Amino acid sequence: MVPPDERPVRFCPYCATALEPRDDHGVTRPTCPACGHIYYRNPVPAAGVLLRAAVGLLMVRRKFEPRAGAWGLPAGFMEFGETPEACALRELFEETGIRGRLTRLFNVYAGADDPRTRAILILYVAEREGGTLAPGDDAIEAGFFPLTALPAPIAFQSHVRALEEYRAELDSSTVPTVRGSQLQRPGGAAADRARE
Ligand SMILES: [Zn+2]
Repeated sequence: MVPPDERPVRFCPYCATALEPRDDHGVTRPTCPACGHIYYRNPVPAAGVLLRAAVGLLMVRRKFEPRAGAWGLPAGFMEFGETPEACALRELFEETGIRGRLTRLFNVYAGADDPRTRAILILYVAEREGGTLAPGDDAIEAGFFPLTALPAPIAFQSHVRALEEYRAELDSSTVPTVRGSQLQRPGGAAADRARE
């Protein structure tokens, strides 16, 4: 099920012709009648880190909308041509001033509560390598917090889930598994299509 686009694209980015809804293998997509360009509305990948030091877990307070003033893990959208690993370390440095090293992939989350887009958040566990803690241009505050006293509110549900899974992993030494409603249904997306 593709959710409706609340702010649909109207013109072809290549030839400026007004786009028309056309069927593309069962999905209606804005299509250019002049040059044939099809607009695919895909989720945007983002990457970030869980970085824990002796003083706690590194968190950032957002300066800008959406959710200005709310807290999150250091993370941001990937640039074109960038790897998830490079994005995670770049966002870490830009938002907190801290240089890090990724030690492993933590988990991947589908975010549906960012009004700008659907996001795919790729989170890594990181260690501090250097730098000086200082909030970046898009942060009000950055700091380390004990896992038992994290700041609130948390901006996005994907970060809330990641923090729950991270705390559970530290408590029990269990590694988080892939979960999410779309994966718990037998057959997943293929079965969904078959049912339609
Ligand atoms: Zn066109």
